[in-house]
Amino acid sequence: MKDEGIYLIALQQLEEAAKLIRLDPDIHEMLKHPKRSIEVSVPIRMDNGNIKVFKGFRVQHNDARGPCKGGIRYHPDVTFDEVKALAMWMTWKTALMDLPYGGGKGGVACNPKKLSVSEKERLTRRYTYMLLDFIGPDKDIPAPDVYTDEQTMAWIMDTYSMFEGFNVPGVVTGKPVSIGGIVGRKEATGRGVFYISVEVLKRKGINPKNAVCAIQGFGNVGYVTARLLHQEGCKIVAVSDSKGGVYRKDGVDPLKLHEHKMKTGTVMDFPGSKNITNDELLELDCDMLILAAMEGALNRSNAANTRARIIIEGANGPTTPDADEILYSKNITVVPDILANGGGVTVSYFEWVQNIERIFWTEQEVNLKLHEKMIKCFNDVWEMTNELRVNMRKAAYAIALKRVSDAIISRGLFP
Ligand code: NAD
Repeated sequence: MKDEGIYLIALQQLEEAAKLIRLDPDIHEMLKHPKRSIEVSVPIRMDNGNIKVFKGFRVQHNDARGPCKGGIRYHPDVTFDEVKALAMWMTWKTALMDLPYGGGKGGVACNPKKLSVSEKERLTRRYTYMLLDFIGPDKDIPAPDVYTDEQTMAWIMDTYSMFEGFNVPGVVTGKPVSIGGIVGRKEATGRGVFYISVEVLKRKGINPKNAVCAIQGFGNVGYVTARLLHQEGCKIVAVSDSKGGVYRKDGVDPLKLHEHKMKTGTVMDFPGSKNITNDELLELDCDMLILAAMEGALNRSNAANTRARIIIEGANGPTTPDADEILYSKNITVVPDILANGGGVTVSYFEWVQNIERIFWTEQEVNLKLHEKMIKCFNDVWEMTNELRVNMRKAAYAIALKRVSDAIISRGLFP
C-alpha cells in the first residue's frame, strides 16, 4: 500500500461509521483531525563519531475518554501519514475495548537492524526528551510496536523519571517486570487473537480442534497465536515471514518452526514442509487466515483470490476498504484489528492500573481478565453486526465511534 493512502483509508473508515450511526457532522469534523501532531528531528551521535538526524513523530488523535495510548514504531518506512492513521485507529480500539483512554501513536523513521544497541538507546532517550512535555501517565502513554520492545520502554521510563526526579512507571506500558511491567504483556496480543479466533470459529460452527489455519507473520503476534492455536488442536498448515512462507498439509509445530527461525532467520526451508510465497499463503483454502504482519496485506489486487472462510486481523490495518467489500461479498467473516488485536492494549491498561495503584496480579489473573474482556467485546460486536446487518468492522467502528462521540458531547467544547 502507498504510504500517502493510509490516512485516507482511516478517514474513509471513519466516514462510513459516521454515516452508520448518523454522527453529528461537527463531531465528525473534529475527529478527522488529530488533536496534536508532533514532528521532531532527533540528532544522535553514531558509534563512528558522526551525528545523524532521524525524523520522529508522535500523534495524539483524541483524548476525550482519557489519556492517549499507543505504541512507538521504529521502521525505515515510518511516515507522518502512517502514524496519524495508527493514532486514529488507537482511538477506536481503546473505545471499543472500553478502556479509559484516547488514541495516540509514535514512530521514528530509522532502520533498527542497522543501529547498535547504544545507538538505539541514545535515539530512544533523545526522542523521549523531545516529547517530555507531551507524554506522562495522565497525558499520553507509549508502548512497544514494530521493532520496539521492553528495553525501549525501560529507556523511555528511565529518561522520563530522571526529569521528574522520581520513578514514574506509569509513563509507558510493556516495560520489563523488574521495573513495574506486567506478567503476560508480551503474549497478550497473540493471546487475545487466540481467544477471538476460537470464539469466531465456534460461532461459525467450526470445531477449533479440526480447524485448518494459515498465518501471515511469525513475530510476536503471529508466533504466540500459532502456539496457542496449535495447543488447542488447530492445524497450522502455513506460516510466513517477510522472506516467504512454508506449507505442510498435516500442519507444522509452531515451537519447532520457531526454533528453526531462530537458527536460520526465516521460516523458509523448514524440514518436512514446502516453501511457498506470501501471495500463495493468502490464497490458501483454509478455515481461518490470520494476518499478523503489516498493513495492506489484502487489497484490491488479491482479495478476490482469498479462499479462507474467516480472516482475523492480528496486525493493524492489514485489509484495505476495497478488499473489505470484496471479502464481504464473498461471505468471508473478517474480524477487524481494533477487536482482534485489542488484547495488547487491554493488558497494557492492566499494567498502568498496577503502576498507579501499586498492586500486582498473577499471570493467571491477567489472562482471566483478558479473556473476559475479549469475549465481552466480541459479543458486543457480534450483536451489533446482526443488529445493523453490516460487517464486523463497521459494527466495531459504530460502537467505538458512538462511545467517543458521547464523551465529546458530555464534555462540551471549550471555551
Ligand atoms: P514483529 O516485528 O514481532 O513481527 C512481524 C512479523 O511479520 C515478522 O515475522 C516479519 O517477518 C513479518 N513480516 C513483515 N513483513 C511481512 C510481509 N510483507 N509478509 C509476511 N510477513 C511479513 O511485530 P508484531 O509485534 O508481531 O506485530 C505484527 C503486527 O501486529 C503489526 O501490524 C503491529 O502493529 C500489530 N500489533 C502488535 C501488537 C503487539 O503487542 N506486538 C499489538 C497490536 C497490534
